[in-house]
Amino acid sequence: MGISEALMSVQQRINNSAVKARRNSDNIRLVAVSKTVELEKIIEAVKSGISILGENRVQEAREKISNFNNLTQDSMVKWHLIGNLQKNKAKTAVQLFDLIQSVDSQDLAEELNRHAMKAGKKQKILVQVSLSNEKTKHGILEGYLIDLLDKISNMTNLNLQGLMTIPPFFDDPEKTRPYFSRLKHIADRLVDKGYPVHELSMGMSNDFETAIAEGSTMVRVGTAIFGKRSTD
Ligand SMILES: *Cc1c(COP(=O)(O)O)cnc(C)c1O
Repeated sequence: MGISEALMSVQQRINNSAVKARRNSDNIRLVAVSKTVELEKIIEAVKSGISILGENRVQEAREKISNFNNLTQDSMVKWHLIGNLQKNKAKTAVQLFDLIQSVDSQDLAEELNRHAMKAGKKQKILVQVSLSNEKTKHGILEGYLIDLLDKISNMTNLNLQGLMTIPPFFDDPEKTRPYFSRLKHIADRLVDKGYPVHELSMGMSNDFETAIAEGSTMVRVGTAIFGKRSTD
């Protein structure tokens, strides 16, 4: 299957899941995860209608975005950082990304705010929440979330838009459902309290339909568009 066919199929599945959940598919954005994917394929995806690309490494993204901008005059495309971010790369991340989905500590938020201020940018962010208690996973634990959101609300150059989560991997997408419904529940309660967490980034190739059923507004899909990655 070519990229444009794969993309049409993913888009169709998104639409079908939205209909089933009685949701408007306009409220579900597709982030094409292009980590490790070569530029020609990325350009093909953009020509086929992709407008948001997700990268998980700052270094890789920097080179790719620069090459992409040299080769295309496409200024409509937005890049999102979906992977763990180290503080020493915060400055570059602010230069490169429209949305940083992986903010999970006060230190990192402060560093991003500082660089955004210097750059005269209001940096859009999501806070990544860890719901699995797996120590290796990134993301802030639920018990510390409100405290972090309160700190962020005082950071004038950060624009908090929502929450992101990566559940543990299961072959059976049904097993991820409790994580998605949990994040939706947390976000709804926060919205009731006035926190601006309207975006919910959840769902990947294996489980984006389940995530949409549970309220995802942003799915991050790599393999189902670009095929299997050789490395991660
Ligand atoms: C790689 C990655 C994805 C995409 O995974 P696929 O299974 O290839 O769709 C989504 N989100 C994050 C954070 C990733 O690192």
